Amino acid sequence: MSQAIAYCDYNATTPLRPAAMAAITRSLQDVGNPSSVHAPGRSAKGVMEAARETVARGVGARARDVIFTSSATEALHLALDAARDSYGDLIVSELEHDALWEATRDADEMAPLRATIDGVVDLTHLEELLAAAKRPLVAVMLANNETGVIQPVSRVAAMVREAGGILLVDASQAVGRIPVDIAALDASYLVVSSHKMGGPPGAGALVLASGAAFAISRRGGGQEQGRRPGTENVPALAGFAAAFDADGVSESVRIAALRDRFEQALRARHGDVVIFGETAPRLPNTSLFALPGAPAEIALIALDLEGVALSSGAACSSGKVKSSRVLAAMGVEPALARCALRASFGWATTDEDVDRLLAALDKVRARLGALEGAA
Ligand code: PLP
Repeated sequence: MSQAIAYCDYNATTPLRPAAMAAITRSLQDVGNPSSVHAPGRSAKGVMEAARETVARGVGARARDVIFTSSATEALHLALDAARDSYGDLIVSELEHDALWEATRDADEMAPLRATIDGVVDLTHLEELLAAAKRPLVAVMLANNETGVIQPVSRVAAMVREAGGILLVDASQAVGRIPVDIAALDASYLVVSSHKMGGPPGAGALVLASGAAFAISRRGGGQEQGRRPGTENVPALAGFAAAFDADGVSESVRIAALRDRFEQALRARHGDVVIFGETAPRLPNTSLFALPGAPAEIALIALDLEGVALSSGAACSSGKVKSSRVLAAMGVEPALARCALRASFGWATTDEDVDRLLAALDKVRARLGALEGAA
């Protein structure tokens, strides 16, 4: 980005792509509820249905199997409700985002699926859990928001199918960065988020495999074929579709080169840096690393003062840094996990942003080292 801030936090939310901004602006100028039968209503419906076609095409689904929601969180919860008559036990990977984890962790029928030190779901443990489960619903994300590690979802799907279960895949961080195809993944439910791919916040989708069960859980105005009532956010959906059309996957080579250069330089400057999940396949844009002795909560503030925006390994909610559940699941020592910082790049990241990040990290480390020396 060529603004004053070097923004390196695309996994939290991405800057809006110009094409998405243009589509939203156009749609905001129109009046019309997509459920209305008059011409403005039909026009809004046209925009929404074109968006549905685009999202469906982007993940290899049929348009009628795309249910628009306000967020990935809502889509995940809708999937749980939709599948409620189709499963007995629930197996949820410990790597899942809080959006799903917090919604399922206290359920009696839930068994957590462990992760390996590489940040990948433990397939041996999955085998054990599946052997003990009755009609399981298994939730494994496609790419982790903290480490960027891509999960072996097709292998998981084969195991789940063999056990007579169904699969829910949170692809929020993967869509627009790596190819995603619901049939190739063999998922029954796939979740997508607009603001992780250059679209606006306030839009997401639950995508169904053809024939996936859908128990109606919400009643209202009958929108989205009665599956998710509430007037659709047409401008946001227009922006969501424009972000899909921008084909972020084709930018991946450039972004991976930026990320790799960042990690090489980091290693050259700080020999003790630890990069999490680097032995596993990762998203091209994500680097979760720790500079031992530099706690994330202090580093983040110092980086912010340098005009560099990144995030701690863990989700920051209400401005507070929580320790990372994902790193704990990977068996990372708490003292090291406290130092985890996540840099995530995207469509507008420049070489200059990466240089500024590296320079700011040098400064922060030097300052923290000086403090330690003075103590
Ligand atoms: N799933 C993953 C993997 C995420 O990274 C996030 C957001 O960070 C979510 C779900 C929630 O997305 P939303 O903000 O669209 O509800």
